[in-house]
Amino acid sequence: MKPSINIALAGNPNAGKTTLFNRLTGARRHVGNYPGVTVEKKEGIFTHNDQDIRVTDLPGTYSLTAYSVEELVARDFIVNEQPDVVVDIVDASNLERNLYLSCQFLELGVPMVIALNMVDVAESRGIEINAGKLSQLLGVPVVPIVARSGKGLDELFDVVIETAKQEKSAQPVLLRYGFDLDQTIRKMIPLIEDNMLLTDQYPSRWIALKFLEDDEQILEKARQKNDAVTQLLLQYCETVTAHLQQTMDVYPEAVIADHRYGYIKSILHQGVVSEKFVGDRLYTSDKIDKIVTHRLLGPLIMAAILYGLYTFTFTYSTTLVDSLASIFAVLSNSIDGMLPDGPLKSMIISGAIDGVGGVLGFVPIIMFMFFGIAVLEDSGYLARVAFMMDRIFHFFGLHGSSVMPFIVSGGIAGGCAVPGVMATRTLRSPKERIATLLTVPFMNCGAKLPVLTLLIGAFFSAHQARYMFLATVAAWLVALISAKFLRMTVLRGESTPFVMELPPYRFPTIRGLVIHTWERTWQYIKKAGTVILGISILLWAMMTYPGLPKEQTVDFEQQRQEVMANSGDIQDSATTPSPGPELTQKQQAALMLINNQEAQAALKNSIAGRIGIALESVSRFAGFDWRTNIALVGGFAAKEVIVSTLGTAYSLGDVDPINSPTLKDRLASDPNWNPVVALAALAFIMFYAPCFVTIVCIAREAGSWKWAFFSMGFNTVFAFLLATAIYQIGMALGLGG
Ligand code: GDP
Ligand code: MG
Repeated sequence: MKPSINIALAGNPNAGKTTLFNRLTGARRHVGNYPGVTVEKKEGIFTHNDQDIRVTDLPGTYSLTAYSVEELVARDFIVNEQPDVVVDIVDASNLERNLYLSCQFLELGVPMVIALNMVDVAESRGIEINAGKLSQLLGVPVVPIVARSGKGLDELFDVVIETAKQEKSAQPVLLRYGFDLDQTIRKMIPLIEDNMLLTDQYPSRWIALKFLEDDEQILEKARQKNDAVTQLLLQYCETVTAHLQQTMDVYPEAVIADHRYGYIKSILHQGVVSEKFVGDRLYTSDKIDKIVTHRLLGPLIMAAILYGLYTFTFTYSTTLVDSLASIFAVLSNSIDGMLPDGPLKSMIISGAIDGVGGVLGFVPIIMFMFFGIAVLEDSGYLARVAFMMDRIFHFFGLHGSSVMPFIVSGGIAGGCAVPGVMATRTLRSPKERIATLLTVPFMNCGAKLPVLTLLIGAFFSAHQARYMFLATVAAWLVALISAKFLRMTVLRGESTPFVMELPPYRFPTIRGLVIHTWERTWQYIKKAGTVILGISILLWAMMTYPGLPKEQTVDFEQQRQEVMANSGDIQDSATTPSPGPELTQKQQAALMLINNQEAQAALKNSIAGRIGIALESVSRFAGFDWRTNIALVGGFAAKEVIVSTLGTAYSLGDVDPINSPTLKDRLASDPNWNPVVALAALAFIMFYAPCFVTIVCIAREAGSWKWAFFSMGFNTVFAFLLATAIYQIGMALGLGG
């Protein structure tokens, strides 16, 4: 006799558990009340294909959070007794609501089979359910049955026995709960795992969720196990709860529930339920979704919204950007007047102010962009974008869960690849995950924005929104094509089905928008004031030292003396024969030229200059001069640094700060720059090696430095080839102006 297997029947009240239980065990039924709890659980044994099966009928529940005794009993049984298979009875005529519980079993990671009950009722109401599709999307077997007549029970228990015998244990399914909660959960998990807080009983992510859902039982158990860690975890929960309260006036429980329903909704949207289905109710959200995620209309609406966002950003931020630039100019001037010439002044003006100012000058654009994105995100539209992109992503060998990491990394503009790379944790297939985390750095993150804006503003100022839109499309194309390439070569393998969550639409609150916009803008400002300031000063030093050798300094000094001495000749010799203290305009111009040449010579001789010049032998194929090279090397530390370094490289030796042109104008009028060079530089900057922090993050998430180095090499080579192609073709066509 084979050893018997244990199964538990779970499901919503009235889903048909008892009917099924009685059918199965009718002949030799053992009814027993469990001691200690009042809620009835029944146990019985039956045989299917010579296999003894012990079955427990659990109390009906809607959820697995310990809010009621039924829920607690059902959950404890499953966690403590660990049945071989949980048979989840789902009422097919009420699919959406019933799947809410299934969703929680998936998150708990228990081995399960869904019995799709009452298909007769569903059919009579014109509801047709594609069980195969549902099973594929959920990743668990789904068997249609009619418990009352016994239809489908043979198939059901064939599958149950098969599942029970599977060696591989079920993995918890990871749902996303929105940016705020996901971030908190990510912080909580290592704390739970490192302290092994209840991890012998539950998955760590599930424990984090229960903390957020304020589950008394889990909290109590955790407190007994390790009070200090529990307090720390609760603090995380309090912080995020306060934040959600402030921004959206909701509690974490509600957000979690919304996302679970979103997950279910998106499954039902993917051809699981036939058209005749109208759901429990036809929500306004569903009506909007019919249009917004329509196969043809959807992408058009999406493109229009993105284009609108860029137009809005550039139209309303220009004046602010210009006034900020003049504020920094005034600041430079006053410091110029206050300090004596020397390294300190040069460091403050060329290193700190030009560097950080260059980055801070873009705050208005960043702020407008973030505001727009906050509207899209808080309203729930961003999730629809992800939903639509799903279809496209699959074709390129990526997964539906790759979409959010792309958007987080700057898929619309202004994200960051670091959280983007971390967000790939929701992907279960390692190959799809690595393909995703290698391609998210191609997005236009917040640090690339100032560079893009600078170059677009300098060379294509008439069509800023259009070029920004094109840059976005280009970023996606390159990312998707690279992903396809990776999935066809080094990361070859099957793709897994995808499911996305569709939260309901909400009206964003002004308060929420303001807070979200400000939070992200502040992050940007903080980075400019700390990391970027440090790197700017370091680069300034590299661009300043070791300075000119003595004989050259003497040489330039001599030239200056000559200009001064010759003043008589230059000026009208008849009126003022001797050199006076007042210099003529021509003299001033001549002196400025000499000073500039000296500064340029010094820059060339500096550490950074030498690196830049050494790289010129390669970079000239793409049209980059040595000063641009310095900026591009600096950009590896952080992409914002490109702007600040260009600022420093082009302003060093500027002797006339009163009339000093902006960096934008300097580039526009520099002989080494033209629209073709600008386009090549744009392409290179968008696609070359990710910044240092992202690289570290890729190494950590991919589990090896191999992929981090691969990313640096692959991206840089690709970006360089692309930039070279643009430059060579553009110049050959005579577009260089
Ligand atoms: P429980 O609360 O999950 O134990 O659900 P019950 O087993 O008590 O069933 C609730 C109701 O649904 C009862 O009236 C059953 O007769 C009915 N029922 C259960 N399964 C089916 C089915 O497959 N088809 C139909 N038409 N009715 C069913
Ligand atoms: Mg019952």
